[in-house]
Amino acid sequence: MSDCLFCKILEGKIPSTKVYEDDLVYGFKDIAPHSKEHYLFIHRNHTKDVNDLMDKSQQDLLDLFSAMKKFTENSDLSNNGFRIVTNMGPHGGQTVFHTHFHVLGGEQLRGFGR
Ligand code: 5GP
Ligand code: ZN
Repeated sequence: MSDCLFCKILEGKIPSTKVYEDDLVYGFKDIAPHSKEHYLFIHRNHTKDVNDLMDKSQQDLLDLFSAMKKFTENSDLSNNGFRIVTNMGPHGGQTVFHTHFHVLGGEQLRGFGR
């Protein structure tokens, strides 16, 4: 989508720091990390959020989780643990409307029952 920030990153029109890439999925460092390691994983197909993705292309979800598995199992993240988060809509705090998963780790994370 022409006015989508993450589509522009996929097209190379906006620079990003790549950490993972395959034919379907792109992973890169978050520009404003919330933990020592903070990556974003996006599908090359544009959808606006997880519910839109589920309506249009459920396979994309498997592609994304397969990519995050390949990435994390080749790093210390798999030994120490990590968190996968997706935000949806205003109350979820979504600011970029191209479905993405945050991969957070590199230190002890707080919240969510701790
Ligand atoms: P959301 O708030 O939609 O769940 O997550 C959007 C994320 O994208 C935020 O964590 C934000 O820091 C990150 N972000 C916004 N603009 C850019 C950018 O231009 N480059 C990169 N690498 N990350 C960005
Ligand atoms: Zn997009």
